[in-house]
Amino acid sequence: MALHVKKERRDFIQYSTLGVLGLVLAGGVVSAPYLKADEKRLRPPGAVEEDRFLALCIKCGQCLQVCPYHSIHLADFAKGYGMGTPYIDARKRGCYLCGAVPCVLACPTGALDHDTEKPEDVKMGIAVLEFPKSCLAVTRTPVPKEQIQRIYSHPHTRELEENVLKKLSTFEGKPCTICADMCPLPNPLSAIEMIVTPMGITRPQVKNGCVGCGVCEELCPALEPAIVVKPRMRYEDFYKEGAQS
Ligand code: SF4
Ligand code: SF4
Ligand code: SF4
Repeated sequence: MALHVKKERRDFIQYSTLGVLGLVLAGGVVSAPYLKADEKRLRPPGAVEEDRFLALCIKCGQCLQVCPYHSIHLADFAKGYGMGTPYIDARKRGCYLCGAVPCVLACPTGALDHDTEKPEDVKMGIAVLEFPKSCLAVTRTPVPKEQIQRIYSHPHTRELEENVLKKLSTFEGKPCTICADMCPLPNPLSAIEMIVTPMGITRPQVKNGCVGCGVCEELCPALEPAIVVKPRMRYEDFYKEGAQS
């Protein structure tokens, strides 16, 4: 078993044990692992609707074991609900939309739906330019080297991961188009492109092909991500009646 999987499991067991002890002491025990929080969590590709997902996922960790980008984590007690279920923390590592979607293939229960066969089938959420004032394209700030240092510390033990960092480094000192140019969809223009508004402002525009993989959020060099993924939302949910940000 890969080292990172062992660590995820160790952390999960440690937090689970502490969590169960705490709950016993507090007098409320059984239902906590199945509680749902208001906050939606970004799930791996193919995740079925949240209630079914929590019922079907057996917390086996197969999906994270096969992920070549270290994108998937197992929720520990500190995350509050769905203990042991897989999730993606986009700011730490998005999903790079592998062609054959191996995480889905590895899922033995259908918690990750096997109808998700290719990147375009994925529906994790939708990207939103939440903080345009932080966007380096909007503020016409060349990408500062020190602001992508954070990303160089992300997992990079595999060639695929190294290739991401190599491509990212080519943006240093240049106008920022990272979210649009690093989008891992086979046809990234279906998901996001840089536009110039009638006011002459350059900024990314999300389109209805976005699958919510979170790579733009991970790689956005703004100190706080200007672009974020809304888990489990669809394009129509957010960008309705001219609400395109
Ligand atoms: S599609 Fe690839 S990168 Fe994304 S979670 Fe699955 S295995 Fe990991
Ligand atoms: S990566 Fe971030 S800072 Fe750069 S253009 Fe996209 S939203 Fe703006
Ligand atoms: S726009 Fe962002 S969230 Fe959407 S598919 Fe591209 S990288 Fe993923």
